[in-house]
Amino acid sequence: MLQEISAVTREYDVVVVGGGFAGARSAAELSSAGHDVLVIEGRDRLGGRMWSELDRLGGRYPVEWGGAFMVDRPTYPLTWQVIDRAGLDLAWGSPADTDLIWFTGGERRVGPLPVPFDELASLERLVVRVQELAGTIDLDAPMHEQDLSSLDVPWPQLLEGSGLGPHTIDLWKAHIITLAGDDWTVPSALPFLRSIAEAGSVLGATFFDAPIDTPMARTLGPQLAGGTASLYEAVSEEAKGDLLLGHRVRRIIEESDRVEVVTDEMSVFARAVVVAVPLGVLNDVEFEPALPKRLQSMAAEGVSAQAEKVTVLIENCPRPFYAHGSPAEGGFATISSTVHGGDTAVAIGFTTSPGALDLTDIASVEAAVRVYLPDCRVTDVAFHDWAADEFSRGTWSYLRPGQSADLDLVREPRGRLAFAGSDYDRRLGVEGALHSAGLAATEVSQILATDR
Ligand SMILES: Cc1cc2nc3c(=O)[nH]c(=O)nc-3n(C[C@H](O)[C@H](O)[C@H](O)COP(=O)(O)OP(=O)(O)OC[C@H]3O[C@@H](n4cnc5c(N)ncnc54)[C@H](O)[C@@H]3O)c2cc1C
Repeated sequence: MLQEISAVTREYDVVVVGGGFAGARSAAELSSAGHDVLVIEGRDRLGGRMWSELDRLGGRYPVEWGGAFMVDRPTYPLTWQVIDRAGLDLAWGSPADTDLIWFTGGERRVGPLPVPFDELASLERLVVRVQELAGTIDLDAPMHEQDLSSLDVPWPQLLEGSGLGPHTIDLWKAHIITLAGDDWTVPSALPFLRSIAEAGSVLGATFFDAPIDTPMARTLGPQLAGGTASLYEAVSEEAKGDLLLGHRVRRIIEESDRVEVVTDEMSVFARAVVVAVPLGVLNDVEFEPALPKRLQSMAAEGVSAQAEKVTVLIENCPRPFYAHGSPAEGGFATISSTVHGGDTAVAIGFTTSPGALDLTDIASVEAAVRVYLPDCRVTDVAFHDWAADEFSRGTWSYLRPGQSADLDLVREPRGRLAFAGSDYDRRLGVEGALHSAGLAATEVSQILATDR
């Protein structure tokens, strides 16, 4: 475990800036390799964008303020290694029959068909078209060596003139919003097309294998019964070294044989640094020499995912539900019960765009849930504004048009710096954090080896 300190008295082999999953994994790998490590975290807690609190919603239910869903084993291999090794328990959602509720083309429907019967042909056209487009990506060639500019555009542009019906468009729009965490005019179509190419089919990239057949398990994956805090503990267990909490790094100055890391209160020297802060706040740190222009401009753009994840306590809700759609006035693109008992449900919703709802006003949230569940009552709401948060400025990593090709290039180590974090990795969420941390730890070990 890391030891919290209040003052720095020596020089370190490595300073890791940021105590999220990428920082914790980098620290674990580097300290296991015998390096003397200091982690500096700006907040007064660890875990970054994955942060759970027990007994929060209605004073009874846990809230995951940030990331929570563990995508399937093939997509999240490193994460599942940690889950298996630590024997963490999973929560798959209610196994009881779930109502499937759709809101597309201005109407609400309940039942298994995601579009009305007379739009099934349109839905088929969409799937075939998207599959064809995904098939043009060469998975064996680096992204920056392929001309994928015609796919690296927002979805409305890509699907223009496809002659799709209104329900099909609304369905796909809600799907993209839920995946990418923003209005579907914002993210690039390319990352999801690449996932489809990797999975071999549109449905393969949309639905996961799950031991329990619930919509939540099939589309989002399970959550951790002990909260993401239990996963963080398992990742950070092997990290040995010092920890400075509540110290925001302001400057990173690279010299020929060491790096100076400057916080508001102190300066620390190390032979190498892992920068593990989110892309959206990278430009808040002053680098000498300056970061490459493209990395600076990507940091200024930030990740595309800026909409809100909301946890809602719902009464008068007789059955578990999974609701998906595009309400004309905005609201929830997806909202799904994760816990259900009696007439009460805890549901997780993803908003249609940033600020689509006044989340501080229970009545507005209730009106948005009632689009899907007309008779329900909302009694509590929990959300964290990650887009406004000075330590993240965004939610999860989803690429904007023009960012895909450059992603591998911007993460390359420079001098004595390596970069880790899900925002710098093609793998999503916590898996991207763990994957990039492994790469950064290897790069730093090489830097330290050449010093000897
Ligand atoms: C609402 C939401 C829902 C999500 N859903 C999922 C999901 O279901 N599944 C999934 O896998 N992923 C999900 N994610 C994404 C996942 O949470 C992140 O990809 C992952 O936690 C990122 O880890 P990281 O270490 O790269 O970055 P972070 O967790 O952001 O860690 C970076 C750390 O750096 C610190 N920091 C920033 N600036 C400074 C500074 N100047 N000095 C010192 N410290 C600094 C921050 O405080 C933070 O602790 C979600 C995220 C959000 C916000």
